[in-house]
Amino acid sequence: MKPITINEQFHCEKCGEMNPKAVKTCRNHCRACLWSKHVDESVPGDRNSVCNGMMYPMAVTTSGKKGLQIVHECAKCKARKLNKVAQDDNMELITKLSQIPYDVQP
Ligand SMILES: [Zn+2]
Ligand SMILES: [Zn+2]
Repeated sequence: MKPITINEQFHCEKCGEMNPKAVKTCRNHCRACLWSKHVDESVPGDRNSVCNGMMYPMAVTTSGKKGLQIVHECAKCKARKLNKVAQDDNMELITKLSQIPYDVQP
């Protein structure tokens, strides 16, 4: 299954930041605190998740051609997802996260 492109603005439930639509990528996490929400089940954009837990940024990783990605872990069900960094993401936080060693294991 292919990812479904959903790029929409949203209000962060964690810090209250109003996130506008992303440039060049899909907005799937907050640009200020980097938290995300567990809304997709099998492919990005399917919005099939019944979990709806908040997902916190646990680390960043670089994987091949996709470049820098944020590793999100769901605070509720512990599911992990990789999300591409957006242009206007909080770089200070990303730098901090990049200092945490993380092994990408499926
Ligand atoms: Zn936020
Ligand atoms: Zn979850």
